[in-house]
Amino acid sequence: MLTHAEKSAGKWWRKIQETELDALNIANPPDVSPLPQLRHIRHLCPGNGGVSISFDYAEVYVRSPRIGVCYCSVIKPVPDELLGKFPHEDCAGGALIPEGRFGFVYREGRCGRCQLKARSLTGRIVDGYERQPTGRKVIRG
Ligand SMILES: [Zn+2]
Ligand SMILES: [Zn+2]
Repeated sequence: MLTHAEKSAGKWWRKIQETELDALNIANPPDVSPLPQLRHIRHLCPGNGGVSISFDYAEVYVRSPRIGVCYCSVIKPVPDELLGKFPHEDCAGGALIPEGRFGFVYREGRCGRCQLKARSLTGRIVDGYERQPTGRKVIRG
């Protein structure tokens, strides 16, 4: 069960990750965006004489940073230099959610033969304690 503070932190962080994924997809648009449930992408590859081959649609796992949730309703990342300064003393407390409490998972991949680029348009938030990364690409969020 997530605490109230964890739920707030998770919601806040998911929104940031969704915005970042949207921005990445605009700045560096994929050619195709299959649903993130897929693990492989099969296509008729021009680099393979038009013959169907598949490539990995690999998981990208973004680990949540340490997040502070203050009673005054401010939520933000708490790097080491902010420890002791946030959550605010005056606000009669707050909670620190440890790094890696959540993961944001989306998928991307590229065909090595024709350079077809794939990235999902959406991702999902997972419980970082129960759902560890399964792919090679792990990013600190
Ligand atoms: Zn290809
Ligand atoms: Zn506060």
